[in-house]
Order: sequence, then C-alpha cells, then structure tokens
Amino acid sequence: MALTRREVMQQAGALGLLGAGGGLARLARAADRIIPWRNWSGGQVCIPAVRVAPQDEAELVDVVRGTKGAIRAVGSGHSFSALVPTDGTLLSLSNLSGMIGSDPQTLQSEFWAGTRVADMGEPLLKAGLAMLNMADIDYQTLAGAISTSTHGTGPTFGSYSSTVVGLRLVTAAGEVIDCDASNRPEIFRVARTSLGALGIITRVKLQNRRAFRAHEKIWVGKTEELLEDMPRLIKENQHFEINPILHSDVALATATNETDDPHTRPNPGGGDGDGVAALMAINTYARNHPKVQAALLDTFVKRMISSDVVDDSFRVFAHVRDQRFNEMEYELPADAGPACVREILKTVREQNLNSFFPLEYRYVKGDDIPLSMFNGRDTCAISVHQDYRLDFHNFFAQIEPIFWKYEGRPHWGKLHTLNANQLSKLYPHWQDFLEARAALDPGGKFLNGHLRSILGVTC
Ligand SMILES: Cc1cc2nc3c(=O)[nH]c(=O)nc-3n(C[C@H](O)[C@H](O)[C@H](O)COP(=O)(O)OP(=O)(O)OC[C@H]3O[C@@H](n4cnc5c(N)ncnc54)[C@H](O)[C@@H]3O)c2cc1C
Repeated sequence: MALTRREVMQQAGALGLLGAGGGLARLARAADRIIPWRNWSGGQVCIPAVRVAPQDEAELVDVVRGTKGAIRAVGSGHSFSALVPTDGTLLSLSNLSGMIGSDPQTLQSEFWAGTRVADMGEPLLKAGLAMLNMADIDYQTLAGAISTSTHGTGPTFGSYSSTVVGLRLVTAAGEVIDCDASNRPEIFRVARTSLGALGIITRVKLQNRRAFRAHEKIWVGKTEELLEDMPRLIKENQHFEINPILHSDVALATATNETDDPHTRPNPGGGDGDGVAALMAINTYARNHPKVQAALLDTFVKRMISSDVVDDSFRVFAHVRDQRFNEMEYELPADAGPACVREILKTVREQNLNSFFPLEYRYVKGDDIPLSMFNGRDTCAISVHQDYRLDFHNFFAQIEPIFWKYEGRPHWGKLHTLNANQLSKLYPHWQDFLEARAALDPGGKFLNGHLRSILGVTC
C-alpha cells in the first residue's frame, strides 16, 4: 500500500513522533522517497526499498555484488502474475537497450536485454532481418519476454525463448556468464526461460530470418464452424488464431501470412478500446437477457470488426491494447484446444459469468527448454481476460479447473493459482531448473514470495 506524505505525518503524529523535531523531518523525507511500482494492469503493486537502473553492464555487476537483500529484475511490467514485486531492490535494464550487432550469414542478432520488442523491428529491418514470429503486443522488453516464454501464434513457431541462441547472465555472486549451445550448455538450457530466478540477463542473441512483409486478415465467423475447420485453417495459414466473443456464437478469426505484396495497407492505428467499450456496454445492459445479449453481440461484431493490413512484418504482428485487463492463460496439448474452448464458452453462458473480453486461442510449437510451458509438446494457448475494473477471482476460479482437466500449464506471466507441488508434476525437467537455480543463487537473492511459492524454495 502506498502512503502519501500527509498519511505518513498523520500516522507519525498518532505514534507521538511529531514532538521530536528531527524525527518529523526525517519521516517527511522518507515519505517523499516512497515510489510504488505497479504492473500494466494495476493488479500487482509493491514499494521497493531501492530502485536502480544501471548505466552500463559494469555498474549492473557492481549493484548485484553490492546488494545484500533481494533483487528483482523488471522489464516493462507487462506480467499479470507477481513475478516482479519486491520490497528489496527493483532493477531495471532501461539503460541497457538497443542492437549490439547482427550477422548476415547466420541471420542472427544480438540485443541488450532491456530493449523493448517495439524497438527491435527497425534495426533488424536495416540489417535485412526480422523476428521469426511475434506476440500480440510489442511493449515487452526482450529479457522480460524470454523470461516467461512469451509467444505468438502458429503451430510451426516456438516462443521467443526458443529463438534464443545465446545470452549473458550476471549471477548472484556477480559472475558474468556467456552461455550458448556449446559454451556452458547446462546453464544455457535452463536460462532461456528463467522467470528472473537465475540471475540478471544483460544481452541476448537471437535466431532471426530475412526481413519479410506480412498480410493480416481479420474476419468474423461462427465459432463452432471455425473450431471444426481448425485443422485446415492452421495448415493453410502460417499464423492463425481465433477470439471467440463470450456470450455469443461468433468469433474473430485472424490469419497472418508472409506476402510479396509491395503495397502497404497500414494498420489503421488506435487501440482496441472502442471495441472493448462497446462489448462492455452490451454486457452491462443485456447481461440478464442472454438471447438479446447474443443477438446484439452477433450484430455488433459482424458490422464493426474486419481488418486487412499489409506491411513490414513487425508492424503487422504487434497490436495496441489500450483497454487494461487481467489475464489467465493455460497451455494445453494442441489437440485438446477445441474441446477446451467449447467447455469454457458453455460454462460462461450457463453460469452467466460477468466478463466481456474475447477469449484468445492460439498455437505454439513445442521446445526443449525445462521451464518453458511448451516443453516437450506442441501446444495451444487459451486465455481469458477480465476488465481491470471488475473482480477477476470469481470468473477465473470457474474457468481454471477446466484448464486442469486438459493437463494445462499456466503461462508464467499470467494469473493462476498453482503452487510448486502442482507445477512440478506438469514439467518433466522441473528438477533440472531447481538444481541450476540452487547452484547459481544459493542464498535466494533473486527470489520473491511468489517465486518461492511456485518453485517451492524455502531459503
Ligand atoms: C496487453 C498484454 C498483452 C500480452 N500479450 C502476450 C502475448 O501475445 N503472448 C504472451 O506469451 N504473453 C503476452 N503477454 C504477457 C507478457 O508478454 C509477459 O508477461 C512478459 O514476460 C512481459 O515482459 P516485460 O518486459 O513486461 O517483463 P516483466 O513483466 O517486467 O517481467 C517478467 C519477468 O522477466 C524477468 N526479467 C525482466 N528483465 C530481466 C532481466 N534483465 N534479467 C532477468 N530477468 C528479467 C522479471 O524478473 C520477471 O520474472 C501480454 C501482456 C500484456 C499486458
């Protein structure tokens, strides 16, 4: 909880401290220094004792070596789960940003870990390169994105973590480790998805591809028809996803494919706020009249939403999400997707759950990273959202057990209720990560309460 200067002075008065002149001045100065941190949705808040943003790598190493208490790295605060909050030191890499280099032969690039994904597209394009795939937004930092296995959609495309070919890690002891498939491979294997629990990542090498143009087409279809047609749709499109509209029979379908079309049809700009506001209005006024609600939603969505964009790939993949929400996402075996989506939509309708954000249903290729949600299996990702002004607990509590039925693994950066005991059963190489963490950070410098709970670490 954040305290204002006035509140600190009031509480100090109540404690009888105001009589001590020097004490009052000190308290007032301390109140000025309290800067709360919040994540994007506002659902996670903390008051770190110290906030640091080192100017360079050498200063960062000094900070890690010199800090006695806990340190949590923060990217751009776009995780919904409590990965970041700390009352110790909050460490930002906002000054370690930009491209370090690229190689036209291997089609690889190296970036400072604090670079926002939004700032990677242009320098990559100048080098004739592009990311293999991208997530729905590009506000994340590179280190933040790989730390939670952030992903886009497409059954032949892995998460950002799976495209990492090397990285530099600063350990709790201040050791600087460069690792890749041949140098310290045991650390590289686990560090590609690490939740910030192994150390501070300062540089990342990525496998890219030649720059390309992409065509995104969005249309509205019957949800059931899209689900039935899914095998064809994901075979014929490189990137495909659907967004079923809760309480209705329709869904947005989005197909994105490489194109040689040189004529740009730019993203019209603006965010999704107006569309979400309309869904909210329909939800508010027709929620207790399900047939009217479904009819209004079908009409609104069919009339309002369509899109046809052609541009450089990085301008097409990234969207603007300007209506804040909280989110829960689980990753399921790919074949389980349609059945799980149907069950969620049925539950929402039968229980008339109070939510209006569309469901999100995507595909991600499996990988071999121990703590990746995609470890060892091709996956579909299903997420539910709740407007940041509405309580998400009841809604998510009705949906989460459905994900469990289908052997879902929660997205590390999104909300869930699982603990270490439950999570360890979902990851075949769980122990490998725990052993690496204990060796690299025996004193738990890079942990917070949430990480202790999900990893089962007591130090
Ligand atoms: C609107 C919105 C849309 C989203 N869309 C998608 C999507 O399409 N696909 C998807 O998979 N996810 C999505 N997410 C989730 C988001 O991509 C992840 O939670 C991501 O990890 C956030 O990155 P960040 O830079 O904000 O990192 P933060 O949330 O600040 O931190 C995430 C983790 O990274 C660690 N970390 C950060 N920097 C470092 C470092 N230098 N060294 C070590 N550890 C570090 C932190 O300690 C923390 O554990 C979305 C989130 C929002 C709010």
